Amino acid sequence: MVFQIVIVEDEPAIADTLQYALETDGFRVLLLDCGRPLLPLLATETIDLIILDVGLPDISGFELCKEVRKKSSVPIIFLTARADEVDRVVGLEIGGDDYVIKPFSPREVTARVKAVLRRSGSADQGVPDLPNFVLDEAKRQFRLFGHLLSLSRYEYEILRLLVRRPGQVFSREQIMEIAWDEPDASMERTVDAHVRNLRAKLKAVAPKYDPIVTHWGIGYSLKEDA
Ligand code: CA
Repeated sequence: MVFQIVIVEDEPAIADTLQYALETDGFRVLLLDCGRPLLPLLATETIDLIILDVGLPDISGFELCKEVRKKSSVPIIFLTARADEVDRVVGLEIGGDDYVIKPFSPREVTARVKAVLRRSGSADQGVPDLPNFVLDEAKRQFRLFGHLLSLSRYEYEILRLLVRRPGQVFSREQIMEIAWDEPDASMERTVDAHVRNLRAKLKAVAPKYDPIVTHWGIGYSLKEDA
């Protein structure tokens, strides 16, 4: 099968070099020189991976990634010119899968692309090796041990975030940043309330199963072997 990759990058020299390298390696490549057209493209095309410049003329790559994540778990590799941005990217609090710092060699990027595609299992639903959960992103539904969970919007977003990164601890602020359209720091306690409800719903399906870990004073994670 041929993987289709979108490069969102406003510097033509970089975009062309990457396109050439990826096509040489057998990928199909679509180019966008600004960010906004990405969302409609995702709705109409089957995209296996996005290479996303952080500094775009019309929207920041981070903001765009958040928008994408509301709809899709397609793997995203950030391109950034600033090493000081890497902490945010590495924290993956925005939902990225990897990053490359400019300047880079095209070979480095194609190697990352292949690694990320391998890791993500390409066409899976973004749930890495968690046999107990099945996520249907199109229907925004989770099944736990085969049982359909009836989740509110925020419960769904929180669980989707945790399930994508088993073992990673997310602060309340990060959870809010990702799951809420308009994050409000004064509301961070509401994250606790939603997690409490979520736990109760998981428990209703599997009384002895408690995959969500509370990190006191920090936030939450999903058990690595959940
Ligand atoms: Ca740029």
